[in-house]
Amino acid sequence: MPIRLFDSLSRQVRELSAAQPDGVFRFYNCGPTVYAPAHIGNFRTFVINDVLRRMLELEMGPGKVRHVRNITDVDDRTIGQSRKEQRPLGEITRMWTGIFHADCDALNCLRPTAEPTATGYIREQVSMIEVLMEKGNAYRAADGSVYFRVGSFPGYGALSRVKERELKVTNSAFDADHKDDVGDFALWKAHKPDEDGDVRWPGPAGAAEGRPGWHIECSAMSRKILGDTIDLHTGGVDLLFPHHENEIAQSECCNGVTLARHWYHTEHLLVDGTTMSKSKGNYYTLGDLVAKGHSPVTVRYALLAGHPRKQLNFTLDSLHAAESALATLRAYRAALRRLKPASTGVYDKVLDALRDDLNTPAALGALFTVVNRGADGGNLADFERVIFALGLDLDRPAGLPATPPEVAILAEKRWAARGARDFAAADALRSELAAAGWSMLDGKDGYKLEPIKK
Ligand code: AMP
Ligand code: ZN
Repeated sequence: MPIRLFDSLSRQVRELSAAQPDGVFRFYNCGPTVYAPAHIGNFRTFVINDVLRRMLELEMGPGKVRHVRNITDVDDRTIGQSRKEQRPLGEITRMWTGIFHADCDALNCLRPTAEPTATGYIREQVSMIEVLMEKGNAYRAADGSVYFRVGSFPGYGALSRVKERELKVTNSAFDADHKDDVGDFALWKAHKPDEDGDVRWPGPAGAAEGRPGWHIECSAMSRKILGDTIDLHTGGVDLLFPHHENEIAQSECCNGVTLARHWYHTEHLLVDGTTMSKSKGNYYTLGDLVAKGHSPVTVRYALLAGHPRKQLNFTLDSLHAAESALATLRAYRAALRRLKPASTGVYDKVLDALRDDLNTPAALGALFTVVNRGADGGNLADFERVIFALGLDLDRPAGLPATPPEVAILAEKRWAARGARDFAAADALRSELAAAGWSMLDGKDGYKLEPIKK
């Protein structure tokens, strides 16, 4: 049975497939903006995408999924934070990237196969903008910024069904004076010394020095790493408009082909009935919940308990329910280990539910239907496969501390030193980590941090 998933563009549940003859599935998930901690609303989206990645790997085989998740390390918010703290932009974004990685690891999310940063792909963004200017889809404004001419792309609005009137209201708040039409959006922002400080790069031919607009970042990284047409593009619902609508317009005008064959958006996590968000301040980070004594795997379970395409109201009670569900699963597995494996296929309904539009609550329900019958008749290997798909690390002891931020920062520094083949620095950082009580296990594409057992 293939994996079927709702496609936000066609508004239908459709089969996922790899289009290229190499059979590799090309998947781009918009990543975090690294200026503050990611909250568990953000992690709802990343955890759901991680289950999707795991299902794709089970379906298509290891190495057959190319999963890109970017780091947005230059935009209005990251620059704003660096100005506020009077610290260099790179220092702020590296620190929050390290903390994001530590949280992802604690939540048992597989590392993406590539994790490009926006600042690492400026050249690619500039050259896309130049193509758009040559083709007449973009124009230079009086201040040297470059805007995308929305009227030049007849397909604009197909994804979000945004109406022209709404478009004008949404976009008119900023930069209306430089644009030909209020619906147009910035591809390149001319440098403003009092806002941007020293953050600037040479611009596209004919434009001023400055920095990219947010939307072009994903278009350029996706194109460079995955190619002009990808199999799946994902993010939270708030990215439908304008971010993904603008990505489609830029990429399709530049490349002349479809950007993504499938679009998938996860609904928001709420608190007290309103969207959890950094700007509202109504959020929990993973660290907040760990400090209250909850383990990361418990948080992961609670985030899986609602249908990804429905809003989910987060409560601390949901963590207590998750804790007891996990205890049941641990006891069940211990019992399975003592028994001879029985029939296979007992957990098929769990994977079927995940293949059916990633219905995580139905999958958990199906799992407990089997588990509640007792370990007799169960099958350890099959059970482990299902647990892998859900990404529930049952071996992580409850209440394991999340990695402290300073440890996450040391680990990122060491990983960078190792990548630059500066082994003396890498060794020194390993000693610093050990002094802080943590060991770092290096893998091919990333690392894992573990507390050193006393
Ligand atoms: P950001 O770091 O703000 O760019 O967001 C990272 C990801 O989290 C994006 O895919 C957002 O759509 C998603 N997101 C933001 N808020 C929530 C929320 N309350 N629930 C679920 N996903 C969210
Ligand atoms: Zn994006």
